[in-house]
Parts: sequence; C-alpha cells; structure tokens
Amino acid sequence: MATVIAITNQKGGVGKTTTVVNLAASFAALGLRVLVVDLDPQANATMGSGVDKSRLPGGGLYSLLLGEASLEAIRCRSESGGYDVLPANRELGGAEVELVSAPRREQRLKDALAAVRDEYDLMILDCPPALNLLTLNGLAAASRIIIPMQCEYYALEGLSDLVNTLKKVRASLNPGIDILGLLRTMYDPRSTLAQQVAAQLSEHFRDKVFDTAIPRNIRLAEAPSYGMPALVYDRSSRGAKAYVALAAEIAGRLHLTLPKQTA
Ligand code: ADP
Ligand code: MG
Repeated sequence: MATVIAITNQKGGVGKTTTVVNLAASFAALGLRVLVVDLDPQANATMGSGVDKSRLPGGGLYSLLLGEASLEAIRCRSESGGYDVLPANRELGGAEVELVSAPRREQRLKDALAAVRDEYDLMILDCPPALNLLTLNGLAAASRIIIPMQCEYYALEGLSDLVNTLKKVRASLNPGIDILGLLRTMYDPRSTLAQQVAAQLSEHFRDKVFDTAIPRNIRLAEAPSYGMPALVYDRSSRGAKAYVALAAEIAGRLHLTLPKQTA
C-alpha cells in the first residue's frame, strides 16, 4: 500500500514543486512505483514532469475531484521522470468554488486515490500555496507531510500557521497525519541568517528537520523548462544529488525497501 506524502507550505516559492518533481524522479530511479498528484492550478508539477497542461486527458484533476472523470481517464505518465501523474490545469482553481457545497468536499482526493493505493509505493502530492480546500484535500489524503522552507527571516512565522492547520486537520479530518520532516531549500550554509534560522528550526522541531538540505542550484531552476526533473536534465548537478540524498533519508525514515540501491 502506498505511503502518501503531501508537500506543503502555504508560502509560495519555497521549493514545494521542485521537491515533488525531483523526489518523485529520485524514488522512481530507486525502483519505486510513484504517483505525483498536482493540486496546484498553476500546474508547475505537471509541466515540470513533461506533461502538457493544455492537453490533459479527461480534463485532469479538476474532473476527477468533481466526479466527472475516473482516475484512469486522467492519469498521465512522466516519461522523463519515470512516474505517473494526476495532472492539473487552471480549471482546478474553479474546483475550489464548485466543491464548497459538495459532499465529502475535503475527502474527494482521498476517496479517488483509494482505488489505486496498491499500484504504487509512494504518492507525492504537490499542494498550492494556500491553506484552501485543495490543500485540505491533500492533507486529508496524506499520512505524512514534508514542509519545504527557505531559511529566511519570516519563515518560522508561517510555520506556526501551518502547524495550527495541521492540528485542526488531525482533530477533524485525518487523525493519523504527521510531519515527516522539514526541508531546508535553496540553502546557503555560508549565510549567517540561514544558519540562525536553521538553528531555530532545529530547536523547535528537533530531528524532524532533515539532515539533507537542498542547496540553491541553477540546474534545479532550469530543468522544469525542459519538462524534466534535474536528475534527468543534469544528474551530476548538486541539486539533483541533494534530492537523491533526500530520497535515501526519507526511505530510511519510512523503512521503505528499495528495489535498486543506487539512483
Ligand atoms: P513552490 O512550489 O513552493 O512555489 P517552486 O518549487 O516552484 O516553489 O520554486 C520556486 C522557484 O525557485 C522556481 O523558479 C524554482 O525553479 C526555483 N527553485 C526551487 N528550488 C531551488 C533551488 N534549490 N535552487 C535554485 N532554484 C530553485
Ligand atoms: Mg508550486
């Protein structure tokens, strides 16, 4: 049965999508069966996986959440990444409004994924930069969350909102959900501010902070415009290697058995 991990932070531009695409590719390279779910109407994970958001079969995740298409009808393959994708497009933004009066509005994704949980080892959910109904669908479906964050001045403030949301989700929607880890992204160990924020993070969250930090690396920013993960675009880049290391660290935390030992 797949472990479902939501990559979430209501701040934009912290590296959520980059983490989704590159972790998915790293796990796929390790031989795991991976499904990426794009819950963001910006559809960056879709495009970054090499799937064209302007030509989605079955209407993409929007249609799935509204019950207009089956999961099989919307599922795509990331040929570059070696994983499957439930893709998004701008229409998904409308689901936010249209689902408000729908039954089980927060559990739509969870219900849809139940049918294929045995087909995958991991499902990785890309959440939008908001604590909205789409994010709630992600948090209801996931058993773990990863919080990517930049170690800058206001980073910790945003975290307390997220932790409060998580408490509410635990109380009402999903009692089993837990933080798998906090991920330092675009990390520059030479920056004094980054060091200070990282130290505060460790103080608050202890060993929840991943040992692996993702460095700022131009290859990670370039790869999406080619519709491929950095692991494929430039596997020797520092960014790609950091995500491979992160995948190994996560596999350890989750006690996953890896079919292949090297990516
Ligand atoms: P989010 O999904 O949280 O909004 P993204 O993953 O889209 O964040 O990242 C925001 C921007 O920063 C993108 O242009 C992305 O390519 C770039 N980026 C993300 N991580 C890194 C990194 N480690 N090094 C350099 N650029 C990065
Ligand atoms: Mg994103």
